[in-house]
Amino acid sequence: MPLPLADAYDYRAPAGPPPPAGSFVLVPLGTRRAIGVVWDGEADSRLPESRLRAVIEVLDAPPMTATLRRFVDWVAAYTLSPPGAVLRMAMSAPAALEPPAPQAGWRLASAPEGARITPARRRVLDLLADGRPRAGGEIAEAAGVTPAVLRGMAEAGLIAPALLPHRPRFAPPDPARPGPALGPEQQAAADLLREAAGRRAFSTTLLTGVTGSGKTEVYFEAIAETLRSGRQALVLLPEIALSAQWLERFRARFGAAPALWHSELTARTRRDTWRAVAEGQAPVLVGARSALFLPFPDLGLIVVDEEHETAFKQEEGVVYHARDMAVVRARLSEAACVLASATPSLESVTNAATGRYASVHLPARHGGAAMPQVTLVDLRRSPPERGRFLSPPLVAAVGETLARGEQAMLFLNRRGYAPMTLCRACGHRLRCPNCTAWLVEHRAARRLQCHHCGHAEAPPEACPSCGAPHSTVPIGPGVERVLEEASALWPEARRLVMASDTIAGPAAAAAAAAAIRDREVDLLIGTQIVAKGWHFPHLTLVGVVDADLGLAGGDLRAAERTFQLLHQVAGRAGREEHPGRVLLQTFAPEHAVMQALVSGDLDAFMAAEAEARRPGHWPPFGRLAALIVSAEEDRAADRVARDLGLAAPGGEGVEVLGPAPAPLAILRGRHRRRLLLKTRRDIAVQPLLRAWLARVEVPGHVRVQVDVDPVGF
Ligand code: ADP
Ligand code: ZN
Repeated sequence: MPLPLADAYDYRAPAGPPPPAGSFVLVPLGTRRAIGVVWDGEADSRLPESRLRAVIEVLDAPPMTATLRRFVDWVAAYTLSPPGAVLRMAMSAPAALEPPAPQAGWRLASAPEGARITPARRRVLDLLADGRPRAGGEIAEAAGVTPAVLRGMAEAGLIAPALLPHRPRFAPPDPARPGPALGPEQQAAADLLREAAGRRAFSTTLLTGVTGSGKTEVYFEAIAETLRSGRQALVLLPEIALSAQWLERFRARFGAAPALWHSELTARTRRDTWRAVAEGQAPVLVGARSALFLPFPDLGLIVVDEEHETAFKQEEGVVYHARDMAVVRARLSEAACVLASATPSLESVTNAATGRYASVHLPARHGGAAMPQVTLVDLRRSPPERGRFLSPPLVAAVGETLARGEQAMLFLNRRGYAPMTLCRACGHRLRCPNCTAWLVEHRAARRLQCHHCGHAEAPPEACPSCGAPHSTVPIGPGVERVLEEASALWPEARRLVMASDTIAGPAAAAAAAAAIRDREVDLLIGTQIVAKGWHFPHLTLVGVVDADLGLAGGDLRAAERTFQLLHQVAGRAGREEHPGRVLLQTFAPEHAVMQALVSGDLDAFMAAEAEARRPGHWPPFGRLAALIVSAEEDRAADRVARDLGLAAPGGEGVEVLGPAPAPLAILRGRHRRRLLLKTRRDIAVQPLLRAWLARVEVPGHVRVQVDVDPVGF
């Protein structure tokens, strides 16, 4: 059952031949009915026959493949989740199991003698002459008639109602359409990926190369090969809502749109898409991480684009990393997996270095476009004016760029106006009542918001601590505040802010990208959503307002992440004939991340990162799992965390750190403690975790969440 249960339930098979494993069945569950999957077809129940309830009905849907069932079991075992919780992700469209609702349309009837045939009626008859029933709207549009004409024809017996199965037909992408002529290095890379995709065997290949080097065109060739061999291809993108340009390119290359899978699909599209995938009628699907659990009958290729992105990690419910699970699903499916990135994760780089993954690299930008020149602005030497955030060198560079009629971008990875609000009278800082977090001022919306739990309140008239009236001041910048400064500096420039709260949804993102491409915008101000794979041909300057932002905090991967993000941002500058420039404002110009961004030497930076992590057996040179203990009462969380600490596993190559307050010590009103289990790479953490959790009693109001391979800590 798709429920968080440790085990499967047993039911008596219906009369007749038993439904094969993988069949979807309707069964009684308590007082209701629910849909489950026949996990194995064995007659091995521990319950006496008399106590078994019977399957109500075997549903008319393609059974879940053995591969997908093994994948569900594998993910459950790896993440220590109940198999039913993982199964639920694979049944994310239960309505898909109902037969598709028929929709009324029209078909040709045997024309009675003497019926009047007007020209309008003639057009309808001609349209329906091929015998295929069509929807009323479709006929009205194609034949240029009103619905009244159709009703009249039905009364005259010329046409009759007909049922139409409504299911999206994903027009098959055509692999035979010619792609662009590939450069020699692209060609070599494409040959390698084509060979991998055509082999019907598991392989993983890391595809690297700077932004603009043509990686997408190269993996399109692997998709073409997969289509030619009649198998399906899945492409995972970190932020499907921001993928309008990607979809446009896919359509241009293959002459048809791929199927889409993400959280914003309507229930009906979700159901139809799920069903089309199960029936093998969606040759290429592009989706968010949850698409990994779709019922592809014969998956031949999985591409994970921007494989380093943390958006692939799911942190709620079943905690899993879609990049890693993509490799697993490819292995179980005997498929090829391609991980693509300009700034690959140290995990993947290490796997490529040890030969576990194949690798292929595109050394230069397509067409010889130069990489942007990166310079550091030392904020200690060139500070902005008081109360401002843009330094004189950056102001000058933006001014020059705009004067030349080119586009500039200011990047700051922070939504809102100011990340903190402080009382000038008493020093009190406004905090979220539910989380260990400052309230972020959103001035345009006149709200103070918590970016962790969604709490929002009106800005206070007086300090909530000392009561001083109108005493609060914003501290630090968010994109809204940068916009305010930019408006004062360049009042003539046409400005656009791109942040997840100002650009809501794929249509808005596509419209923004089009406005930038069509030069309706001079100055773009954005958070990390501008970093993602956009192609802005007229953008020649990128200014990073606070390059040090991601380096604070004790995260193991802070440097790696900051490098990846800023490198991606820098890659937006100067992609065509105009060379690009990037200015990074920093208080730490000597930091390895800043130096690597200036030199562009990704390999040296990754090598240094590896050497920093190897001695302590930090990932990827060791394994890590986190236990997050949370409860509404601090004492309860603390007690369980301490019990876990006392029961911690030990031994050679095994270490437990904590308990300590979790990075967000209070989140949504729950107090959180964390313990980290760190082991050598050759030791599996799952058996240790299972035995550990079994040794500690956890009361019902305390939650212990397991996070194998945690990413943000
Ligand atoms: P990446 O995925 O590495 O960032 P892309 O595949 O997006 O690179 O390529 C960057 C730009 O260069 C895109 O506009 C793409 O259409 C173009 N491009 C890449 N390869 C070719 C090619 N062989 N011929 C023509 N245009 C190409
Ligand atoms: Zn909060």
